[in-house]
Amino acid sequence: MFENLSDKLQNTLKKLRGKGKLTEKDIDVAMKEVKMSLLEADVNYKVVKTFINNVKERSLGHEVMESLTPGQQVVKIVHDELMKIMGEAESKLKFNPNDITYFMMCGLQGAGKTTATGKLAKKLKKDGKRPLLVACDIYRPAAIKQLEVVGASVDVPVFAMGDKVSPVTIAKEAMKHALKHGNDVVIIDTAGRLHIDDDLMNELVQIKEEVKPDEILLLLDAMTGQDAVKVAETFNKYLEITGVILTKIDGDARGGAALSIRNVVDKPIKFVSVGEKMDQIEPFYPDRMASRILGMGDVLSIIEKAQGAFDEKQALELQKKLKTQEFNLEDFLSQLQQMKNMGPLDDILEMIPGLGGNKKLKGLKVDENEMKRTEAIIQSMTKRERLNPTIINGSRRKRIAAGSGTSVQKVNQLLKQYDEMKKMMKKFSSMEKMGKKKGGMG
Ligand code: GDP
Repeated sequence: MFENLSDKLQNTLKKLRGKGKLTEKDIDVAMKEVKMSLLEADVNYKVVKTFINNVKERSLGHEVMESLTPGQQVVKIVHDELMKIMGEAESKLKFNPNDITYFMMCGLQGAGKTTATGKLAKKLKKDGKRPLLVACDIYRPAAIKQLEVVGASVDVPVFAMGDKVSPVTIAKEAMKHALKHGNDVVIIDTAGRLHIDDDLMNELVQIKEEVKPDEILLLLDAMTGQDAVKVAETFNKYLEITGVILTKIDGDARGGAALSIRNVVDKPIKFVSVGEKMDQIEPFYPDRMASRILGMGDVLSIIEKAQGAFDEKQALELQKKLKTQEFNLEDFLSQLQQMKNMGPLDDILEMIPGLGGNKKLKGLKVDENEMKRTEAIIQSMTKRERLNPTIINGSRRKRIAAGSGTSVQKVNQLLKQYDEMKKMMKKFSSMEKMGKKKGGMG
């Protein structure tokens, strides 16, 4: 995401970083480049103007000009200001503490409403909620069916009344249904149109008045840049939306919508949708996004992904095993499998500091086949072999290679990796012991 913008900004800032002292002219030249990059990224021109003025003013201040690392100071200022235009802090969903919570999802056709409705439901369910989805799009052929399919895929019930009843009535009935069935969050999927029209807006306003939603979330396709911002302005005028979910940012190389919305409509981006799969939705953190754009990585998101994917009990057991050096191939396999739960490795690589912007790594595909091969090899071993890999001799290696459809060479390679890993662990655990003895580190 945002590759084009990222590349350009990083290039400009790299030139500043290399300088020992910055002159006013250096800053001027750099800011012209930054301005061009932002305009090319389709960021709203008013936003760009304010941004450049702020960065310039701060960059020409004493702390920067007289600092020993002026280039780095400017990078920090750019980071801060990027964060500011995106809204600074994360904006969480608002729930009704005393009653059923209602979310109304709206947006143009194709923005990704139905998909995001499913994703949100999955997330809420994981958090222990009991969501209900409501099919209020009675105009688009197959919209109801699509929501039902999405609902089934995340195992969340869908309330529908066909396409002969008005959406307002459907919403009203859904509220009764939720009360009766003990649902605590109701997500209403409304109709979209190809373009904004008064009929649609009036219908949405009626649903809003009937339901009084806790959140009115507008789905915007990030790839449409400033058009998305215009759509946001109109929806906000009619509906007074409470937040935005920005979709398809996996395909958005420019970032214009993400960087403009907050400033133009003064409503927070609450989530970003980063793919078609049901778990590809993330809370929007302006600070982390600014870091990603500047190639500074997003370590916090990696940790959260890992926390979501790894089983805590297993992790603790593994930790114990590592300490006592009992780590065997069975553990190795279970670790691999948990890593796969974190999602595509390419997504994760992008968040690692220094890797996101690394030209040499651009286009590098993590070899997921290699992971599958490793898995197949371990699965072709007997339990005894997995628990005690030292018994794997030549003939066993041949058998394992044949069983996994790989080669003896690949089996050897894996066993070597395992050995290396064990050695590393030995080092870690002895280092830790030393630390404890000295009363440090611990
Ligand atoms: P709706 O008309 O607003 O309900 O839009 P849909 O939910 O049907 O989505 C329209 C298309 O966009 C579908 O093909 C989705 O799979 C796709 N889509 C939705 N969200 C994303 C996303 O975050 N990334 C990508 N790449 N595709 C998405």
